[in-house]
Amino acid sequence: MSGMQAVWPSGTECIAKYNFHGTAEQDLPFSKGDVLTIVAVTKDPNWYKAKNKVGREGIIPANYVQKREGVKAGIKLSLMPWFHGKITREQAERLLYPPETGLFLVRESTNYPGDYTLCVSCEGKVEHYRIIYSSSKLSIDEEVYFENLMQLVEVRSHLPTGAATAPSLWGGWALNMKDLKLLQIIGKGEFGDVMLGDYRGNKVAVKCIKNDATAQAFLAEASVMTQLRHSNLVQLLGVIVEEKSGLYIVTEYMAKGSLVDYLRSRGRSVLGADCLLKFSLDVCEAMEYLEANNFVHRDLAARNVLVSEDNIAKVSDFGLTKEASSTQDTGKLPVKWTAPEALREKKFSTKSDVWSFGILLWEIYSFGRVPYPRIPLKDVVPRVEKGYKMDAPDGCPAVVYEVMKKCWTLDPGHRPSFHQLREQLVHIKEKELYL
Ligand code: AMP
Repeated sequence: MSGMQAVWPSGTECIAKYNFHGTAEQDLPFSKGDVLTIVAVTKDPNWYKAKNKVGREGIIPANYVQKREGVKAGIKLSLMPWFHGKITREQAERLLYPPETGLFLVRESTNYPGDYTLCVSCEGKVEHYRIIYSSSKLSIDEEVYFENLMQLVEVRSHLPTGAATAPSLWGGWALNMKDLKLLQIIGKGEFGDVMLGDYRGNKVAVKCIKNDATAQAFLAEASVMTQLRHSNLVQLLGVIVEEKSGLYIVTEYMAKGSLVDYLRSRGRSVLGADCLLKFSLDVCEAMEYLEANNFVHRDLAARNVLVSEDNIAKVSDFGLTKEASSTQDTGKLPVKWTAPEALREKKFSTKSDVWSFGILLWEIYSFGRVPYPRIPLKDVVPRVEKGYKMDAPDGCPAVVYEVMKKCWTLDPGHRPSFHQLREQLVHIKEKELYL
C-alpha cells in the first residue's frame, strides 16, 4: 500500500470494496458490500481492528474497505446518476475503474463545449463516443437519433443491472437489489408503498418510489439521512437506485409502526405515565441532536415518529428536512402542527420545530387525538395568531402542560431550545413530577 491515509477513529463506518476471506485466526472475514465498524487502530496502519454487524471482532485490511461518508449536503442528486458534467477524459477513465464491461458514464465534452461524450468500459478499455446533437436530437453514429440522453443511454449501453448507479455518488450507501427480498406492504407514504423487506437476513423497511416526479424529493430524503445518526432517528441502511425497477430507501424496521397509531390502539389503559414521558424524551433527544446539527425537520408530528420492537420512539420522515434557514412552499403544510411564523412568512427554524414538538406532546398525552378538536381547520390559524392555546389533555400532568405552552409561545425567540426542553423533561422524570 502506498500514499498517505488519514487514520480512522473508532466508530468509523466502512463499506467493504472486495471480499476478504482472512488468513489468520484473528482476521475478520467479510464480503463485498458489508458494513464494518472500526474498533481500534493496530500497530500497522494498513490493518484495523473492526467489528461486523453481528458484533464479531477481528482484524481487517484498510485497503479492502472504504469509509462510509454522508452524502455531502448540497450535492445534486440526479435521476441520471451516470451524468458527471464537465470532467476530463482521464477523470472519466478513473471513474470507470476497475473495468467492468458495460459500465458507462456521460460527461460534457471538453473539446467541444456544449457537446456530450459517452464513455463506455468495454473489455478492459474505455471508449469515448462523441454524442452528436442536431435538430434537437442526439446521436452517436448519425444513423439512429434519440430524443434525450436517458433514451440514448438506455439503448446504447446495454446496461448490466446496477451499473448505472454510480457508487461514487452514494459513497458506500448504495445497496445491491439482489440482497433484498420485498415481503409485504406495511404502509403507504407520500412517495409510495413502504414494504417490509429482508436484507441479508435482517428485517428492514423499504420505501419504494411511486413515480418519476417524486423521485427527486425521495433522493433528497435519502441524502439527508446519510448525514444523520442518532439512536432516536430512524436509521438509513442504504439506497438502491435502479434504472429499471426504480428507487428504494432501506431503513431500520420499526416493528410497532407509527406513534400515533400506537397511542390510539393501546390507549390509556395500557400506556402508563412513565411510557408517555419516555416517548416525549425519546423524540426530544432526537430533536436536540438535529438542533445541534442545524437541521430543521419541518414535519414533526406523531404520525412521523415510529416505535421499535423494544418501544423506543424514533423520528422519521425526513422528506422536508432541510439544513437550517431555508424557505419552502407553504402550500402543502400540516397547518395544525406548523408554527404561525412558518405558515405566515415561511420562517422555518429549530424554533418552529419546537412549536410542532409542543403539538406532538399534546398528541402523546391525548393518546393520539387530532389537535384542536372541534375547531374548524379554517379557524385554527386566526385563533392561534390571537394567542389561543389548546387545553391540557385529560389527565395530563400540569408540569408537562407547562412545557407544551412554552413551545407555543408566539414569539419564536422566546420559545425554549430542545436542549432546554430535554433538561426540563429529565427534571420531570427524575423528580417524578409526572405521576
Ligand atoms: P412514511 O412514508 O414514512 O410516512 O410511512 C408511511 C407508513 O409506513 C408509516 O406510517 C408506517 O406505518 C410505515 N413505515 C414507514 N417507515 C417504517 C419503518 N421504518 N418501519 C416500519 N414501518 C414503517
